[in-house]
This record gives sequence, C-alpha cells and structure tokens, in this order.
Amino acid sequence: MHEDLVVVTGAGGFIAGSLVASLRQQGYKRIRAVDIKPLDHWYQRFDDVENLSLDLNIKENCEKAARNARDVYNLAANMGGMGFIEKNKALCMLSVLINTHMLQAAVKYRVARYFYSSSACVYNGDKQKSFEAPLLREEDAYPALAEDGYGWEKLFSERMCRHFHEDFGLYTRVARFHNVYGPWGTWFGGREKAPAAICRKVIEAKENGKHEIEIWGSGNQTRSFMYIDDCLEGVQKIMNSQILEPINLGSAEAVSINRLVDLVEDIAGVRLNRKYDLDAPQGVNGRNSENTLIQKYLNWEPSIPLREGLEKTYAWIYDQYRARESGRAGVVQEFVTTPHD
Ligand code: NAD
Repeated sequence: MHEDLVVVTGAGGFIAGSLVASLRQQGYKRIRAVDIKPLDHWYQRFDDVENLSLDLNIKENCEKAARNARDVYNLAANMGGMGFIEKNKALCMLSVLINTHMLQAAVKYRVARYFYSSSACVYNGDKQKSFEAPLLREEDAYPALAEDGYGWEKLFSERMCRHFHEDFGLYTRVARFHNVYGPWGTWFGGREKAPAAICRKVIEAKENGKHEIEIWGSGNQTRSFMYIDDCLEGVQKIMNSQILEPINLGSAEAVSINRLVDLVEDIAGVRLNRKYDLDAPQGVNGRNSENTLIQKYLNWEPSIPLREGLEKTYAWIYDQYRARESGRAGVVQEFVTTPHD
C-alpha cells in the first residue's frame, strides 16, 4: 500500500505540510504535494516528494493533482483565525471551488479514498452561546446555522462529499477539526489562530519589556485545542476507517482564552498586564469537541495535554521569532523552511 500514490493538497501550509512529513516517516514512497503558493513559500518542503504549485480553484489543475492517485487528502482552503475569516467571507467561500473540482477529479481518476478537512465552524451558532464550553455532537451542525462564510462553505462541501459517495461511489471521509496548533503553523501575519497568536504576543511582551498583552474579547470564550500530532494520527485513522459520516476530530480539554494565556505565561515565566479588546473578532462564546462518536468507531480520541503541546509550540515560535529578529528569516508566508526530520 505504501507504493500507491498519495496526494496531499494544501501541503504548503501547516497541517497538510505536517501530514506529508508524517507520511514520509511512515515509509510512503509516492507522495504528491500540492499548494497554490510558490514552492519557496511552503512551510515544509521535501525533495523526495512530487511538489506541485497549482491553483486548485481551477478544474484542470485538480485533474493534474488527482491523476493516478489512490488516496487524496484535500486540506487546501483559504484559512485563518477569527480575524481572517470574519473579514474574508467571500474568499473563504471560494474554497468551494477547490473541493468541488477535487471531488470531480477524484471520480474521474477513480481515487479509492478521499479525505476532506471540515471544521467545528460548521456547528449551529445558537448552540455555542454559553461560555461553559458546550460539547458539540455531530448532529449539532443541524439545523444549519454555521459560522458565516467559512463555516457555510465547510458545511456545503461536507454534504458534497456525502453525495459524491452516494451518487458516484467515491469513498469520502470527513473530519471536523477543532482548533489545531503546533510547530509549523502560521504564527503571525493575520492568519494565525489563538494559540500561536498568544505565544507570539507573550514572547513580544517579554522581549520588549512592556509586559502587556492584548486579548481579543473578554478572555472568557472557551475552546479546545488539538495538538498537531493528535490531528495527524486522527486524520489517518479516519481515512483508514469505514466512517462515512462527518466526525469530530478535536481535543475535549476545553479552556478559556484567559486560561490559555495563563498557560503560555507559565511556560514563558512571565506575568503580563492584560488589555481586553472587546471590539476585536472573537467568534462564538464557547465550544468543545464531544468525542463519543470517534471513541465508538476508533476507540481513540486526541489526548495530548494542552500544556505539553503548548510547550513545544512556544519553543518553536520562540525560535522563529529569534530567527526573524536576527534577520535570518522573513515573514512566515515568505520564508523557506527546511524539513524538520
Ligand atoms: P493553512 O492555511 O496553513 O493551509 C492551507 C493551505 O491551502 C495553504 O498553504 C494555502 O496556500 C493552500 N491553498 C489555499 N487555496 C489554495 C488553492 N486555490 N489551491 C491550492 N492550495 C491552496 O491552514 P491549515 O491550518 O493547515 O488548515 C488545513 C485545513 O484544515 C483547511 O482546510 C482548514 O480549513 C482545515 N481546518 C484547520 C483548522 C485549524 O485549526 N488549523 C481547524 C479547522 C479546519
């Protein structure tokens, strides 16, 4: 099986780049990695992989990407934290072109298995009004009231996967990721998510001696955060399973944003004055991953403790920050990173 061609889209970014690294380590010999970014902008890039810089909004490019593949992991999307998705709703919805054309190409080339990365942003907003980290079960996506823009696109694309299975026999798998974090993620520039943003802000506050941090919202919002290694393991377990319905892939260790800041301050060994920007984008009040279904199907769920994952993430962002400050690297979207194995 490791001789078959595996295609990973979005491979110039965080999760898909890490998936390519992991597949290589597992001994996959034929990997095709695809991203719209020029190759020297990819976060991780490997010379023994077929690396293609292609815009997957375009159908012909999806055909080039999917040709002769056994498995397709479609993780390409326009993606970012709340600041990005609230201000770029149309751009986020345009990712529907990627999944549509990738599904069509997968059918054309008789791909055996197709993975789609959905999001907890598909869940009904009315079920996320409490700050007490409401547990979201898979059925809570309906009646549909997803996050405007990004979440609606994910929900629509999930259903497309379902109907491509029902109508065209393509084996599709859909995981709803709950906030993923870790080394090799975006950590500045506007698309970063809360854990990376907070690590960066704590590092900056410590380095500039101001000892102050700005927090978006009241800090009482709750979320769970899944470390990248759990995410990668879950993606492959789901791909290898017979699960045909969308399933949560997230940690159930929910914390408030204030608690997240506490943890990063502990790791950094500082205490900072907190300034709350109540007008900043902050998303829903509370959200947690309900993991009964994944436990039932896989007898497994993400379990890496937040503190442990944050220590590794903080250390990586600290190194990146030091590299940037000393002129060794530019903005994350513009520097070439080297493989980490
Ligand atoms: P990322 O932004 O690091 O990676 C996405 C990649 O897709 C980028 O490198 C981008 O250049 C590429 N891309 C965008 N448009 C493209 C196009 N037209 N053609 C080819 N490539 C294109 O984001 P990520 O965090 O690695 O997310 C990966 C997937 O997981 C996305 O589908 C995202 O919506 C989903 N997801 C992520 C999280 C999270 O917390 N990171 C949570 C829920 C869902």
